[in-house]
Amino acid sequence: MSIANSTTISSSPLLPTFDDVVAASGRLLGHAHQTPVLTSRTVNEDFGAEVFFKCENLQRTGAFKFRGAFNALSKFDDRQRRAGVVTFSSGNHAQAIALSARLLGMPASIVMPEDAPQAKVAATRGYGATVILYDRYKDDREQIGRDLAEKNGLTLIPPYDHPDVIAGQGTAAKELFEEVGALDAFFVCLGGGGLLSGSALSTRALAPDCKLYGVEPEAGNDGQQSFRSGRIVHIDTPQTIADGAQTQHLGAHTFPIIHRDVDDVFTVTDAQLVESMRFFAARMKLVVEPTGCLGFAAARAMKDQLKGKRVGILISGGNVDLARLASFLAA
Ligand SMILES: *Cc1c(COP(=O)(O)O)cnc(C)c1O
Repeated sequence: MSIANSTTISSSPLLPTFDDVVAASGRLLGHAHQTPVLTSRTVNEDFGAEVFFKCENLQRTGAFKFRGAFNALSKFDDRQRRAGVVTFSSGNHAQAIALSARLLGMPASIVMPEDAPQAKVAATRGYGATVILYDRYKDDREQIGRDLAEKNGLTLIPPYDHPDVIAGQGTAAKELFEEVGALDAFFVCLGGGGLLSGSALSTRALAPDCKLYGVEPEAGNDGQQSFRSGRIVHIDTPQTIADGAQTQHLGAHTFPIIHRDVDDVFTVTDAQLVESMRFFAARMKLVVEPTGCLGFAAARAMKDQLKGKRVGILISGGNVDLARLASFLAA
């Protein structure tokens, strides 16, 4: 993998705090699911530990992204609500924004690549959003998003690098600690870092001694490089089945929190993700998308170091095409 370039943070943005996570929890009440925390006797015996799975694959729209999206849109003022929201995403953030906008009665425009899976385009349109297709080899999606925002007065909500998105994502970890108490170690999936930085705010407030680990696909370890070098490292789009973590760099808001509050960042291979998907399906009757398996795959690989501990694992999402799921489960 090539390091295209790397940057240091020039200006320090206003970072969200745990108070913002608490406020987000209030906004999400009655709108987001308080997702279940599951345990497995098989996993506990295998690890010689007590393991708690926070199941965001069972969140509305099938991923934790609904939390950040709904929190961000809930904070719009009247003018912003009338004009609506715009974002660029072909994945779980698109559906989270589309559903949140519908629930809050505002228009949503979603910029998606024209070769995005038809099912995803249809699902996003099904929530009432306007889908704007672009050519991923010619057009710059962020520029299209910014142009729409400027021309039509829309508010741009990016998938991870936004204080209200981070605060919303942090509510899942807050629920976990409030339900099961303090933990010794907590494994969280890492793409652009919205989920990990939000989880870090809740972890440091509610379980200060808990080791917090981010987990990335091995092919896209920009987060690990950034964490260890102390500056945001950019990479080319990584080739991995973890499509929710194909990000090229951490954000100006997510990186400083991760660098300050996270204990380490690990990587796992696609083969390890497939093993974990199979385990979830066979033993826990859970459909988990490849990206959602990152945390568990890393914990399994270091289970010898987790003996006797209380361990949290965040399952981030469950959106995977049935045909793709079947091909992962077969063989
Ligand atoms: C977006 C996403 C991630 C990565 O979240 P970031 O906030 O970008 O780090 C992980 N898992 C799933 C299922 C996702 O949709």
